[in-house]
Amino acid sequence: MYKLSGVTKNYTKGRGTVAALRGVDLVIEDGEWLAVQGPTGHGKSTLLQILGGLDRPSAGIVDFDGQDLAQLRETEVTKVRAQSIGFVFQTFNLIPTLSAQENVEAALVPLHVSGAARRQRAQIALEAVGLGDRLRHVPSELSGGQQQRVAIARALVKEPKVLLADEPTGNLDEDTRDDIIGLLETMWRERGLTMVLVTHDSSIARRAQRIGIMKNGRLTFRQPRPGRAQPARAQAGARPAGSQAAGSEPAASRPGARTATAQAEPATAASDADLQPPDMPVYADADLTDLHEPGPADLAEPDLTDLEDSDLDDSGSLDEPDSFADSDSEPADTVRFD
Ligand code: ADP
Ligand code: MG
Repeated sequence: MYKLSGVTKNYTKGRGTVAALRGVDLVIEDGEWLAVQGPTGHGKSTLLQILGGLDRPSAGIVDFDGQDLAQLRETEVTKVRAQSIGFVFQTFNLIPTLSAQENVEAALVPLHVSGAARRQRAQIALEAVGLGDRLRHVPSELSGGQQQRVAIARALVKEPKVLLADEPTGNLDEDTRDDIIGLLETMWRERGLTMVLVTHDSSIARRAQRIGIMKNGRLTFRQPRPGRAQPARAQAGARPAGSQAAGSEPAASRPGARTATAQAEPATAASDADLQPPDMPVYADADLTDLHEPGPADLAEPDLTDLEDSDLDDSGSLDEPDSFADSDSEPADTVRFD
């Protein structure tokens, strides 16, 4: 699905430059669920935005199904995003003046879906997230968990290949957090999605098939315990009719679905090694303990590198296309109802 090579992202800040990503290499297989964990300010959201075509790297390749998102024209990236990539954000990013139904419909407007079909698909999507009785409510009339369900319905109504979620439970209480992660897991499994979930929370990350750790703009990998999350191998037939684009296969039959260990590091702990298949490293709780809650050290920026003007000229990589500067991270806001 994705193959990132040497992806860097520099943000200019005053007279200096913040290196948010420093040479990320990453392969994400079709149907994989990858969690990305790490302290605040170390590049997780930047990575997600680049995966979603919401921002461009300063350098490197972002291959998405054979197309380099870093090189595509903006209109083409917008199209990829509208068709293939769903986003869920920590702050829900719903349009406050629109009902739940209209918020979900908004994702279909760029796809030129007719009004009647839009209404029907939005209703089905909201029913799928348990909000069939809240279609006419505006966000302020919904709880946080319900708003996030609307956002998930909005992300999935277009039947994307990929779901990118940035701290989707960061604003929710613990019970609601579990509901939302359970919902995301169900959607991932039943719809054969490729899912990238950014989270601080080790208990959430451990549910994914693979965990990437983002620190100082660099991504490393650990392998979670097996058995938490499995794509819909056995349940492929249980997917609701019409919930997946015609012709796409469930994760189970996709070539990458079982190869998520490809980048995993060797085992670092073996407390429950007996339970592991021989090729499956063990992911120790202790590996993540420093990532549970960001401490004071986490609040520091990644290294602030003062670059000379000549450095910038040499690389040429900081000259982003105007159209992508300050890219909007709220795709739905950019659409209008006709
Ligand atoms: P995380 O999601 O891990 O908290 P981010 O990817 O949001 O981290 O940020 C990584 C670094 O890049 C931080 O130092 C942040 O301040 C900086 N950064 C992110 N977005 C911008 C921006 N638009 N302009 C300048 N600096 C940015
Ligand atoms: Mg972030």
